[in-house]
Amino acid sequence: LVSIGTTTSALVALLLLFPSFTSGFLGSHQQSSTTITRVGSSPRHSQISTVTMSSASKSAATGAVMHWFRKGLRLHDNPALLHALSLVDEKNSKTSGAIYPVYVVDPNSYQLLKCSVMRANFILECVKDLDNSLRERGSRLYVVTGDPVEELPKLWTELGITHMTHEADETGEPYAVQRDAHVKDAAKKAGVSVIDFASETLRPLGNREGGYVANVGGFANNIPTTMSSFQKLLSKIDRGSVPLPLESPGKDSFPEQAANDSLDRKYRPLEHPCDIPWPRGYSRKEIGPVWDRKTANKKTSPIVKGGESLALAQLQKTVTARPDWTASFEKPKTSCTEVSSPSTTVLSPYLSIGCISPRTAWHAVSDANAKAKSKTSRSKPPVSVHGQLLWRDFNNLIAHSANAQAPGSWGQMQNNVYCRDIPWSSDPALLTAWKEGRTGYPWIDACMAQLRTEGWIHHLGRHAVACFLTRGDLWQSWEVGAEFFEGELLDADYALNNFNWLWLSCSGFFYQYFRCYSPVAFQKKNDPNGNYIRKWVPELAELPAKYIYEPWTANISILKKAGVKLGVDYPRPIVDHTVVSKENMSKMKLAYDAHKNAEASAKKSKGKQTSGDASGPPKKKAKKSVQKKLK
Ligand code: FAD
Repeated sequence: LVSIGTTTSALVALLLLFPSFTSGFLGSHQQSSTTITRVGSSPRHSQISTVTMSSASKSAATGAVMHWFRKGLRLHDNPALLHALSLVDEKNSKTSGAIYPVYVVDPNSYQLLKCSVMRANFILECVKDLDNSLRERGSRLYVVTGDPVEELPKLWTELGITHMTHEADETGEPYAVQRDAHVKDAAKKAGVSVIDFASETLRPLGNREGGYVANVGGFANNIPTTMSSFQKLLSKIDRGSVPLPLESPGKDSFPEQAANDSLDRKYRPLEHPCDIPWPRGYSRKEIGPVWDRKTANKKTSPIVKGGESLALAQLQKTVTARPDWTASFEKPKTSCTEVSSPSTTVLSPYLSIGCISPRTAWHAVSDANAKAKSKTSRSKPPVSVHGQLLWRDFNNLIAHSANAQAPGSWGQMQNNVYCRDIPWSSDPALLTAWKEGRTGYPWIDACMAQLRTEGWIHHLGRHAVACFLTRGDLWQSWEVGAEFFEGELLDADYALNNFNWLWLSCSGFFYQYFRCYSPVAFQKKNDPNGNYIRKWVPELAELPAKYIYEPWTANISILKKAGVKLGVDYPRPIVDHTVVSKENMSKMKLAYDAHKNAEASAKKSKGKQTSGDASGPPKKKAKKSVQKKLK
């Protein structure tokens, strides 16, 4: 329907008149309710229960409609926004016909709590772009700052809201879950009807129609835990098809609203990151990057700027305009040492905040694949661009499942059913050296410099620094690494960041701890001249290629000629990789053995319990048996 150019108003009318006709088309977007699916050990033991948001009943007192933008900062493929528009549609409306798109700058949200000034800027750019796009359609964005639980009810009263729509947050990110529960309570009290729609992933994660969990019997602990089994699951749902994205509302989709001068002057987008209030209930040392006006005013060099318009342009530039590149893309063959332009799409900052819909990206890739020359080789998931988008859904599904089994456990080692316990140490000096790119290993330090400067690094660069911090060299917990990334990355993403840190630290999903990235040899073959290092660690720029990855092997006269004084201009290595990497492998082996023993005794005790041996060891917690089942 979308591809043949149905206008939005016609689409909305179709939805209202023929809900059953459109259900196949909209598939997963249709239903409201459910955020997190609960876990049951088997269908016999417990029923699937879902958390139901107050449903959007058309019989609620009539008034205005609000669409609350949280992530999903876009107009295209936004089923919740389209639903809001359908509620004010002139012909069918039981509401007053007014619609208010709202964004709450919430400093305690995952996106803003620990964020660098660069990402704060990026988010403000996204918000401004959204406001501009809405203004082009005769509407605008109403921006308030503070706690949505307090700010939204004030707006509901001021604007006479009776219905609110928003995108669902299905991963179970703890702050979002708590916020949404409180907003739901407040809405109930205020008589505001709330409906949410899943549109963050290719398919809904949970128990909604067409959702992943819905297709594994309704239990979140039944989900596939490898990429290949995830691909199999996807191929079974609607024959592996990905729902088509919905069009952006057209210029005539927003109803004309009576001029209101005093309201027009209020609730404008924020201009400066320092306008973002301090997070509630946190002291300075608990927050990640802290900036003041002086730092915030310094020019930053983000890899991309924010906003839906730029996101769509980026998709056009990297995917649509390069059908052969897209069709033959193989992630492991992309280069992480590019210095001029990145070797991957750099859609991640946009996908993480929802400036671009994954379904839009998916279908743009399909179209590009179809347009590629017949002689161009076709790559396949998991290494193709489609494969990257599947990794994204898989990571989100795992986060959803972890939190469904132990709320709030994703992103931490404790209680996380997907994470092995490893006795990491904690050395603030090592951690600081890593964060500041002063490890003495130029390739690692170059990656950290790019992160600091551009808010982004290529996937394999992330591999290198994550492995170095954890099991490779420094033996520091992946949790502190993930937290630092969460602050610095433009694309900081609750599901993806934590999943990848588990993987790289061999705490979950990838267990070949004996395969370790060398901070020296890994990139030498791809970038023998060390151009990437020369760009990001300019103090080493004059070193001959032979020494660029290992400046400590150069003699004094070579260093002097290159203007490098080791220990002064550039640090000596903080650890000896050849020594510590071997020690760390031994520690990993011990941790894995302990894990295996714990599993064996859990199995034994379970066996005794089921054989009715009352004198056996006390029952293991349900959590442990779930963990065993999942791994
Ligand atoms: P492309 O290769 O062009 O892929 C397109 C899209 O697919 C990406 O934008 C992303 O949404 C998705 N994707 C790509 N690779 C992965 C992957 N390995 N897992 C899941 N989805 C993927 N990505 C984030 O978006 N946010 C994070 O916070 C994040 N933290 C990471 C932490 C570590 C330690 C590692 C190793 C990886 C992390 N990644 C994260 C995954 C990956 O590195 C980035 O998504 C990717 O490099 C972004 O560049 P791109 O958009 O050009 O990717």
